[in-house]
Amino acid sequence: MRTQVVIIGSGPSGLLLGELLKGAGIETIILDRVGKDYILGRVRAGVLEEGTVGLLREAGAAARMDREGLPHDGFSLAFDGRDHRIDLHGLTGKRVMVYGQTEVTADLIQRREASGALTIYEAADVTPHAFETSSPYVTFEKDGSTHRIDCDFIAGCDGYHGASRRAVPREALKTFERVYPFGWLGILADVPPVSDELIYANHPRGFALCSMRSQTRSRYYIQCALDEKVEDWSDDRFYDELRRRLPAEHAESMVTGPSFEKSIAPLRSFVAEPMRFGSLFLVGDAAHIVPPTGAKGLNLAASDVHYLFEGLRDLYLEQSATALNAYSVRALKRVWGAVRFSWSMTMLMHRFPDAGDFGQKIQEAELDYLVHSQSASTALAENYVGLPY
Ligand SMILES: Cc1cc2nc3c(=O)[nH]c(=O)nc-3n(C[C@H](O)[C@H](O)[C@H](O)COP(=O)(O)OP(=O)(O)OC[C@H]3O[C@@H](n4cnc5c(N)ncnc54)[C@H](O)[C@@H]3O)c2cc1C
Repeated sequence: MRTQVVIIGSGPSGLLLGELLKGAGIETIILDRVGKDYILGRVRAGVLEEGTVGLLREAGAAARMDREGLPHDGFSLAFDGRDHRIDLHGLTGKRVMVYGQTEVTADLIQRREASGALTIYEAADVTPHAFETSSPYVTFEKDGSTHRIDCDFIAGCDGYHGASRRAVPREALKTFERVYPFGWLGILADVPPVSDELIYANHPRGFALCSMRSQTRSRYYIQCALDEKVEDWSDDRFYDELRRRLPAEHAESMVTGPSFEKSIAPLRSFVAEPMRFGSLFLVGDAAHIVPPTGAKGLNLAASDVHYLFEGLRDLYLEQSATALNAYSVRALKRVWGAVRFSWSMTMLMHRFPDAGDFGQKIQEAELDYLVHSQSASTALAENYVGLPY
């Protein structure tokens, strides 16, 4: 087999890249180690920056999002028993779109299938080869035999645990990592959200987030210890703890109901540099992870795709390698901006076991400054709606 670009990974970054390249007349084959149903069942991010929304529109995969997504003009920081609204639109002229990653993925898969472009699911042992040359290829196992795809470029869109970053010689990579001493216990339930906008709560018992996927589906999280077990958290216990961490008006009005997804996610910041090795490009979670506090993971994957798409399009259509050669530098500049913001939101909103009284007072002073200074609120809002590409 031969194609122009092999995309490893059928998550949001791989699928979005595939659609944008298809629009420019560039051929791709996508490989994923799991099946389509598994991919469609994964529950993850839900807040899209305007840049991500724009890319989905450019890819022709935005019709349902534009119909069903919920544009949000602000969110609340809750502390000291009350809400402090951050007016995203008033401060920046921009808004975010609440639309689940599961739906984004479903829309992109549907577009790809309608066009007849090839995706190979359940491809085992996917391995990039010869990417230090201009004739790279990818091998994989499927139905008991080994297959090979020759190509011009390989896009490693295969997430944190994927094969692409692992294929790069260790000495060629520099990695940066911070692991946080707690996790998020999250549930998904078909109950109306407690508020029209997201609430990020800082409380002596720990952080809580009230988010949503639609007007009838809520996504709630509480900060938990890393050794907590999901099976120890009944829905009632979860809702009781969530209520304790929210201002009284929300605790009293919260509608509860059975959860259909419940999981604990650890929080980490991770960056691998550079993001290009010859003909192999790392994209999205394959190159970086952020804690979900700033709602940036999916949006960073999308901005990487934007830079890589521009580079490949210019090369194939205009024979210019300038943007492709700048991919790693451009993507990493924005990655570090989002890593900084996600780290600062995590430090601001969580209770840290070793913060002590001094750390606690600093956190309270920073929250107070953030919501009472227009400049500080604007800086927060600018980062939340997404730094420019
Ligand atoms: C539990 C969880 C909750 C999250 N919540 C949020 C949130 O609330 N907000 C937010 O902004 N972000 C969140 N994120 C992060 C966000 O989901 C990711 O940043 C986003 O999915 C990145 O997209 P991606 O396409 O780069 O990688 P992925 O979505 O990880 O997709 C990678 C794809 O590659 C495939 N793959 C992996 N290994 C191989 C291999 N060896 N061979 C072939 N294919 C392979 C996988 O099956 C997958 O389909 C969350 C992530 C997780 C794990």
